[in-house]
Amino acid sequence: MRILVIEDDEILREGLTEGLALEGHTVDAVASCGDAREAAAGFAHDAIVLDIGLPDGSGLDLLREWRRAGHDTPVLLLTARNMTEDRIQGLDLGADDYMGKPFDLAELAARLRAMARRGGGRAEAILRFGKLEIDPAARRTTLDAVPINLSRREFAVLETLARRPGQIVSRSRIEEAIYGWQEEVGSNAVEVHIHKLRGKLGADTIETVRGLGYRLRSDGSAS
Ligand code: CA
Repeated sequence: MRILVIEDDEILREGLTEGLALEGHTVDAVASCGDAREAAAGFAHDAIVLDIGLPDGSGLDLLREWRRAGHDTPVLLLTARNMTEDRIQGLDLGADDYMGKPFDLAELAARLRAMARRGGGRAEAILRFGKLEIDPAARRTTLDAVPINLSRREFAVLETLARRPGQIVSRSRIEEAIYGWQEEVGSNAVEVHIHKLRGKLGADTIETVRGLGYRLRSDGSAS
């Protein structure tokens, strides 16, 4: 997933960025409301981790603005311990979950996965397409029960397609999902990942819809 972290505490922000990157996510991190507005403008993120106390305002104000504008990216609030009022207000404003500081990074990562599942309208943790199974938590892919070794980017491309079953996903949407802003993206990077995925999962697994993008074949006929 591509995750936006908004947290002004440098140690916490870097810890979140590194920890979530280790879990295979692409992370963009900012430290103020102003930067957060800019970062979230494209709404390319699958989830947002939002601190409430920021130097130039409240995370709750950001949340209010986004929800009023109709943006429904899942938001997990980071709240100070015992700040029950912040949590209530945050949930009422449209936050999807919260965690009090200090928190356990593994639990935060699990909550982000759960939020993304609900956002996709699924309760099931494992994504299944015929013989293909994708486990975002374990970052494990199997084809016909045989584990398939995918690079971090290959997995991210596959997960991006799998989270949008039956939908055509544009190349730029895939790029947004797997690369952070500071990363240089080669012009044919997505094609290269798709090519490698087809090599590992079967040529028919991912369909090219000319001029529009890619689609994971829902019958999973990866023979
Ligand atoms: Ca703070």
